[in-house]
Amino acid sequence: MKTWVYIDHFKGEAVPASWETIGAAKSLGSDVTAVILGTGVDALAKAAFEYGADEVVLADNSALEDFRVEAYANALSPLVTDAAPGLLLFPTTSRGRELAGMVAIDLNTGVLVDVIAMELDGDKVVATRPIYAGKLLQKTVCNASPQIITVRGRIFAKPEAEPGRSGTLTKVDVNVGDAPTTVEGYGESTGGVSLADAGVIVSGGRGVSNNPNLTPPDGMSDDEAEVWRAQQGFALITDLAGVLNAAVGASRAAVDANYIPYANQVGQTGKVVSPDLYIANGISGAIQHLAGMRNSKVIVAINKDPDAPIFKMARYGVVGDLHEIVPALTVAMKAKLGK
Ligand SMILES: Cc1cc2nc3c(=O)[nH]c(=O)nc-3n(C[C@H](O)[C@H](O)[C@H](O)COP(=O)(O)OP(=O)(O)OC[C@H]3O[C@@H](n4cnc5c(N)ncnc54)[C@H](O)[C@@H]3O)c2cc1C
Repeated sequence: MKTWVYIDHFKGEAVPASWETIGAAKSLGSDVTAVILGTGVDALAKAAFEYGADEVVLADNSALEDFRVEAYANALSPLVTDAAPGLLLFPTTSRGRELAGMVAIDLNTGVLVDVIAMELDGDKVVATRPIYAGKLLQKTVCNASPQIITVRGRIFAKPEAEPGRSGTLTKVDVNVGDAPTTVEGYGESTGGVSLADAGVIVSGGRGVSNNPNLTPPDGMSDDEAEVWRAQQGFALITDLAGVLNAAVGASRAAVDANYIPYANQVGQTGKVVSPDLYIANGISGAIQHLAGMRNSKVIVAINKDPDAPIFKMARYGVVGDLHEIVPALTVAMKAKLGK
């Protein structure tokens, strides 16, 4: 089936899930056309070929310098209409989801989001996606054309890059039209490793603040003292994450209590992640948290309550106080990794 893959990028730097999406298309036996929109993005075309694209359609336009969903949809929808691929894939990033939805409206078709497996049934893609906070897997087919699917990151293998591989590059003109938004600037919300791309995530929950041995500075209210304790606890988590080159995650309880920004939240109303290793510290394992991390390959739970539900999900469990265990783990990992 003729398949187009949208390459999501920020200022010319592709998100790794874009290359995984080429891998997902290849797993269906499709010839892949990568579609790239932006300004000064020729290098992305070269990379797309190296990651397995057979063709690249590239629209370089100064109005596409910043991602604005209306402008990108105005550019992409007519290209898709003209080429009429049977399948259009996006990585499930926030930009990818937004653009997929708008293009689906333009083309009067459906969109299946956050898909974790695909198989062909004739010219239809049977897509598997988690529903009910990941409790059930649903198999769905889109009966309109093109079938639009966003695929979850870190589920499909990223193809091995083949340096020097090339294919057919088609540069196209697009009419971006009137887009009602302008981007005035960017601010970095958090540093460190991005949760979506992380191979290892070290997460903290409400238990991170539970260290009665710490005496807060004089004059703090109870609420301030709790946040202060949590900050000391998250410093332990960040240390371990630093040694493991990991991203820092959090439960919603930790976010709601202002221990850590929302950008770090994992779960049903936070980020959905699929790392190789997820270390949950002081997190009980509520279903809404599990919805965000149950696809992690290996889960380690550190919790002082032996009956905490997270242990049912974890491959390895440590019952004890995270404030003792996490620093010990950091020391052990430093030694093991020679850091
Ligand atoms: C609509 C909706 C959406 C939601 N979305 C999300 C979401 O996206 N993500 C999410 O995480 N939650 C979400 N929630 C909230 C969820 O239901 C839980 O309330 C939340 O996950 C609990 O966070 P927690 O595990 O950190 O806190 P708790 O449930 O309070 O658990 C704290 C854990 O820490 C342990 N602990 C305490 N002290 C220590 C210590 N010193 N050492 C080791 N362990 C210790 C305790 O034994 C306990 O298991 C949502 C809820 C609703 C209703």
